[in-house]
Amino acid sequence: MRVLVISDIHANLVALETVLADAVGRYDAVWCLGDLVGYGPNPNECVALVRELPGLVCLVGNHDKAVLSEIDINVFNGDARAAIAWTQSVCAPETFGYLAGLPARVLQGDYTLVHGSPRQPVWEYILDRFIAMENFPMFSTPYCLVGHTHMPVIYKQVGLNGDVRDEAPDYSAPRALRGERLIINPGSVGQPRDNNPDAAYALLDTASDIWEYRRVPYDLFATQSRMRAAQLPERLAARLGYGW
Ligand code: ZN
Repeated sequence: MRVLVISDIHANLVALETVLADAVGRYDAVWCLGDLVGYGPNPNECVALVRELPGLVCLVGNHDKAVLSEIDINVFNGDARAAIAWTQSVCAPETFGYLAGLPARVLQGDYTLVHGSPRQPVWEYILDRFIAMENFPMFSTPYCLVGHTHMPVIYKQVGLNGDVRDEAPDYSAPRALRGERLIINPGSVGQPRDNNPDAAYALLDTASDIWEYRRVPYDLFATQSRMRAAQLPERLAARLGYGW
């Protein structure tokens, strides 16, 4: 099966549409690792588009839960809180209904899917190889796909003592996963945080276990102007320009 792997769309419809156009004809199913909403200007449109994608498996993220009032929004910083409150004010009943039905952890063959980490599926950030090391015992498949940090990276378990190495994404060639134990982050569609403003996603062939990292520039000025028109925090609009 050819899978489009996306995460952290964050209501950035222009980025999502650009990713879908870039990947067109190259996937039969879609795995979405959560945070469909929060930060960006088009939560209803993004949810409506995602839920119709073919072969969709969609996880819930922490921002989705916050918009549903299922978690205390005081754990977020001021700008994120403002964006969550704005999102709550514009979300349609069908958007809330869809988000409320999303699972936190899904198994797909050799792949465990979560938003944050296999240890804490909604909340934990796998920010370095030490946190990754603690998470390898928390899933039993060869591979675990995560989002949440908005940073594309592969963590690889090596040797018998549980050591973990990290690999930066290689955009020049696909990577064969080869049954290694890996935690893989595709990066963020709607708010990249690796100093590269281009939308990030991945293509995965589950028959051959080949992973391909992709970046695609999108019209971020269009998203920024929609955010300013909605009076979302300026810092959230500005950060799209530098990818952090
Ligand atoms: Zn996110």
